[in-house]
Amino acid sequence: MYQTPRPAYDLACDCNCPIHRGLPRSAYNAPGCRCLTSCASQPITVLAPQINGALFLDRADALWFVPALQPGHWDWRCATPVTDGHPLADADTLVSTLLAEVHARLVAFTHCL
Ligand SMILES: [Zn+2]
Ligand SMILES: [Zn+2]
Repeated sequence: MYQTPRPAYDLACDCNCPIHRGLPRSAYNAPGCRCLTSCASQPITVLAPQINGALFLDRADALWFVPALQPGHWDWRCATPVTDGHPLADADTLVSTLLAEVHARLVAFTHCL
């Protein structure tokens, strides 16, 4: 039977993060967070080596940037929403729109995967 997939925001961490293991994440800049971008609680994410980090939308559709630390690991303490004045603010609307659209379109395919 077809089931609507639960959004990542509602899924529990499955990556052995010491802070979030087994819990959903409500904040992305929690001290001590070691969640991977492959964590079940991570929303659809653009990995962007050009800017040494990754971009994703939170539950409220605000764009966030998290810097990379080393391959596969992210500096969540320094994760920040991309707001006015942020160096990526000019890209905010474009990236946010694309992420929301990709998410919406991919949900339509989940029943056949
Ligand atoms: Zn975590
Ligand atoms: Zn996690």
